[in-house]
Amino acid sequence: MGDTAQQMSKEQWVYSFGGGSADGNTSMKNLLGGKGANLAEMARLGLPVPPGFTITTAVCTAYYDNGETYPGGLDAEVDAALKAVEAETGKSFGDADNPLLVSVRSGARASMPGMMDTVLNLGLSEITVQGLAKKAGERFAYDSYRRFIQMYSNVVLGVKHDVFEHILDDYKERQDYQLDTEMTADDWKEIIVQYKAAVKKQLGKPFPDDPREQLWGAITAVFGSWMNDRAILYRKLNDIPAEWGTAVNVQSMVFGNMGDTSATGVAFTRDPSTGEKTFYGEFLINAQGEDVVAGIRTPAPISRSRADALGSDEAPLEEAMPKVYEELVEVANTLESHYRDMQDIEFTVEDNKLYMLQTRNGKRTAAAALKIAVDMASEGLINEEEAVLRLMPGQLDQLLHPTIAPDAKRDVIVKGLPASPGAAVGKVVFDSDEAAELAEKGEDVILMRVETSPEDIHGMHAARAIVTSRGGMTSHAAVVARGMGRPCVCGAGTLQIDPAKGVFRSGGREFKKGDVVTIDGAEGEVLVGAIDMVQPDLSGDFGKLMEWADRARRLKVRTNAETPADVETAKNFGAEGIGLCRTEHMFFDAERIPVVRSMILAEDKKGREAALSKLLPMQRGDFAEIFRIMEDRPCTIRLLDPPLHEFLPHSEDEMAEVAKSAGVSVDTLKRQANELHESNPMLGHRGCRLGITYPEIYEMQARAIFEAAVQVAKETGYKPVPEVMIPLVATQKELDILKAKVDATAKAVFSETGTELEYLVGTMIELPRACLQAGKIAESAAFFSFGTNDLTQTTLGISRDDAARFLKAYEEQGIYEKDPFVTLDQTGVGELVQMAAERGRKTRPDIKLGICGEHGGDPASVMFCDSLGLDYVSCSPYRVPIARLAAAHAALNK
Ligand code: ADP
Ligand code: MG
Ligand code: MG
Repeated sequence: MGDTAQQMSKEQWVYSFGGGSADGNTSMKNLLGGKGANLAEMARLGLPVPPGFTITTAVCTAYYDNGETYPGGLDAEVDAALKAVEAETGKSFGDADNPLLVSVRSGARASMPGMMDTVLNLGLSEITVQGLAKKAGERFAYDSYRRFIQMYSNVVLGVKHDVFEHILDDYKERQDYQLDTEMTADDWKEIIVQYKAAVKKQLGKPFPDDPREQLWGAITAVFGSWMNDRAILYRKLNDIPAEWGTAVNVQSMVFGNMGDTSATGVAFTRDPSTGEKTFYGEFLINAQGEDVVAGIRTPAPISRSRADALGSDEAPLEEAMPKVYEELVEVANTLESHYRDMQDIEFTVEDNKLYMLQTRNGKRTAAAALKIAVDMASEGLINEEEAVLRLMPGQLDQLLHPTIAPDAKRDVIVKGLPASPGAAVGKVVFDSDEAAELAEKGEDVILMRVETSPEDIHGMHAARAIVTSRGGMTSHAAVVARGMGRPCVCGAGTLQIDPAKGVFRSGGREFKKGDVVTIDGAEGEVLVGAIDMVQPDLSGDFGKLMEWADRARRLKVRTNAETPADVETAKNFGAEGIGLCRTEHMFFDAERIPVVRSMILAEDKKGREAALSKLLPMQRGDFAEIFRIMEDRPCTIRLLDPPLHEFLPHSEDEMAEVAKSAGVSVDTLKRQANELHESNPMLGHRGCRLGITYPEIYEMQARAIFEAAVQVAKETGYKPVPEVMIPLVATQKELDILKAKVDATAKAVFSETGTELEYLVGTMIELPRACLQAGKIAESAAFFSFGTNDLTQTTLGISRDDAARFLKAYEEQGIYEKDPFVTLDQTGVGELVQMAAERGRKTRPDIKLGICGEHGGDPASVMFCDSLGLDYVSCSPYRVPIARLAAAHAALNK
């Protein structure tokens, strides 16, 4: 032990806060957790924080590293810190006259549902309850004590809630009481006896009545919860490493439930749904802890303006406790300008005195993140670059997707609170496991529940939207849905959910589980059926922030698109060119496919050429349309890539029809289809191999491209720069043969038309051999476009279409941390890309480099491409803004 023990003993395990000072501060989140670091910071700012201390995340790590034992010296530090709290509060732990009670709260670096729930009023015992009675009355003291037994037994000792509920219900029935408020101090004393007996019966040992034993029990339970299933799942969904650990915060209690001059609440310094600069929050008079979030009583709004906006009849805090309100607003302003970000705060009022219990940067919707970032930049609180970094690229997706059409007909089933904006359509389910199962099968589901808890995280993640019948704007469902970007309607009070019968009712109407509904999160409505959606507004704040992002980034962003509609959408989303135009997509058009088939089925080159001459004007028209839309922007056009059998019919009916229109017998057709059949088409007769065997196909396509470019140049004055891309090259020779044909075609077209245009010939790099040979291939290629979909398949030897069967197990066991078809496998495929880029550049320093796989729209992959110094990424139209923002983050985070 020697050395390590000594090293360890040098480390400070416990950090105190309170009384206007603190050992820690907000920059120490890694060590103190978010909650602890911010409690320390608030204490330093002189805000009214009940004194306490934080046991560090390093203790959590040491605890697990040493087989669940605490590092030496921890007890002594806890004792000392507890003494300091006693001195600061003038109370003492375990004391019969003036007992110190504490809360024990978990707090990781990032806020984490799934961790142990907070235990309040710890330190109550047969002895200390008498002290509390002297201060706050007998009834209050014994009610608090029985709540504590219930909470501690549940959270720390794992005794189920209903054990206690039964006891209380039975007791009330026997006494003929309706409400808890009818219970007297003596009734609570009796309940305490029964509760303790029940705990002893279940656990085989008595409820711990020694405050110190309680304290260590709770501390150990917090550290234990770091490794529970819910926490592990949450970490997985959010990329939080297990090594981070959690801290434990022990804090002196303040009571929000000591009558009508006490209260508890939560607030945001700006509206977390819209981003509007209004003080936003909820509170409950005479309540404690999580009563606001739990949705047991419906909380009242904090400010008059919110109360009016929500049409609430209850007195807002602004009127119920005007002085406290004023102070709270001042604290909120202090916190926001100190942290330079929107804050999410928890407060409690004990007998008209305000206490701050938590602050953190508030979770917000994408719409709110955008508005807050742009507003704060114009307020001068942050600069434009910081504003760009405030919006996460992945979050942007929410802003780019449709909302409900303003003129759509709405048949409202129920109206609740607009807890998280956006619209979604799906089938109603009542259970999180079921939601996850159906989503796995590709169904769109809406999760409908009375309320949600951390156990529902997987169901909420799987659902398109969430509806609850209970709970306010800061309930679990609301907070989590906003974080995940799921539309959410909360507190739909008239909604009755009956999972046993598989139905839900509202306003006298009954619907079944599985019925399709539309959720309007912005209005808080659940609507009958699937309703029309409209495209989002991309001007205003969005335009401004994207302009700042564009100023910051180096990497260019292109799009993968071939239809005029997609190309147009991508241009509006800011695409700077086309990185991948898949010509074969143009072949599937109903009018064209027969011509394509007659080309494939032609007996000889002559027959093929006849069909190709019919295809030529069609393709030329397509390309001309694309060049017209893209104006001077570069367009990479890939020559035919997929195996030809993909264009042939598969069913008997279709076969007969196609045979008839092609003027051949069904047998001939079948024979030809059979000849084209391949046992492994992904590695078969496709890509440039088609060009090698049927050069006339590539020649036709090249001609269509150049004729279209010349035509548009003449028509419009723009100078299109076609980039002709040869797919699936493995050797320089393949490229040389095909490039010669493309060059010859260009020359012919230019001399026929008398117009000469600039153009490039390059290749798609999607085979490991091509990466190895990149230095040679670059002698012939003016550009490389990394086709990372196929390059991932060919490098990993995994077919994307069959990967579903095992990739999940691979992810679960951490073999590949992420789906390599979504996020680029940086250490494998990424290394090949890097090597090819280096070798290519060595041969041809000005070679253009980009990627055009799905990865081009994945933020982490975009950042990786930036680090390799690629010139551009190319992605589907809807991901263009995400890639632009990710590229800006990459540049700003350098
Ligand atoms: P979470 O991480 O789930 O927000 P918290 O540790 O913040 O959990 O605590 C849960 C609830 O208990 C909150 O409403 C908080 O305000 C309340 N609470 C925590 N500590 C105290 C305390 N010392 N005095 C009064 N209320 C407290
Ligand atoms: Mg909690
Ligand atoms: Mg909290």
